[in-house]
Amino acid sequence: MKRIKIEQKHLSALNTLIASLKNLGFLNRNDVEFAFKNFPRHEFVPTSEQNQAYVNRPLEIMKNQTISQPGVVSRMTEWLDVKDGQCILEVGTGSGWQTAILSLLVGTGTVYSIEIHSELFEFAKKNLEKFKIYNVNLILGDGGEGYLQASPYDRIIINAACNEVPLTLFEQLKENGFLVAPMGPSSQSLVLLKKTATGITEIKNQSNYVFVPLLGKFGKKRIS
Ligand code: SAM
Repeated sequence: MKRIKIEQKHLSALNTLIASLKNLGFLNRNDVEFAFKNFPRHEFVPTSEQNQAYVNRPLEIMKNQTISQPGVVSRMTEWLDVKDGQCILEVGTGSGWQTAILSLLVGTGTVYSIEIHSELFEFAKKNLEKFKIYNVNLILGDGGEGYLQASPYDRIIINAACNEVPLTLFEQLKENGFLVAPMGPSSQSLVLLKKTATGITEIKNQSNYVFVPLLGKFGKKRIS
C-alpha cells in the first residue's frame, strides 16, 4: 500500500476535522484515525470539491451520488469493529474512500465492494489505484444481491438507505458476523445487527442520518 504525501493546506484541514470528530465522539479509535490520515479524503472527490473535502458533510461525486460524511464513515467503521484477516462485503463503493479505510483495517483480509453505477465503479477504481491497494476487489453490480462467490462474510456494510436489509445479505453473513446499515424512509436509523445461531440481534441503533437510497432489485429506486 502506498502512502501519499499530503500538502500542508490539506493536512491542517484534515487535523482540524479529526480533532472535531473526536470532540463530537464520532472518532474514538486510533486505527480509524490512522486510516483517515493514510487515505486523505480530497483524493476521493472531484477536483472541484477538493477544497470542501475536510468539512464534515457529504459531497456530490457523480450520478447524484455522494461521498459519505466523514463522521458517518468513522461511526460505521468503528461499529463494524473490523479485525485483521476478515472478509468484508461493502454495498455501494461510491468514491472508494470507505473501501480504502476498510482495506487498511482488514490487513491480511479482503474487501469485496460492489457498486451499481459503472461511472462510479470506474471513479473508485481510479482513486484506489493511486494507493496501490491489493486486498480490494471491486465489483460492478447490484450489491443488494450480495456476492455469493466470496461469502460468507465476517462483516457487511451497506452505504445506502434501505427499508429493510435484503435477506440474501443476512444469508451471506457468518454466524457472529456484524452488518451495519442505514434503515428507514426519509431519515434513517443507523443500525448495527449481529447474526447469531438463533437469528438477528440489534446491537446499536441511532436515528437522524440521511443517506442516498439503495438502488436495484431490493432498493427504493431503480437505477437511472
Ligand atoms: N461510502 C461511500 C464513499 O465514501 O464514497 C459513499 C457511498 S454513497 C453514499 C452510496 C453508493 O451506493 C452510491 O455510489 C450508489 O451508486 C451505490 N449504490 C446504491 N444502490 C446500490 C446497489 N444496489 N448496489 C451497489 N451500489 C449501490
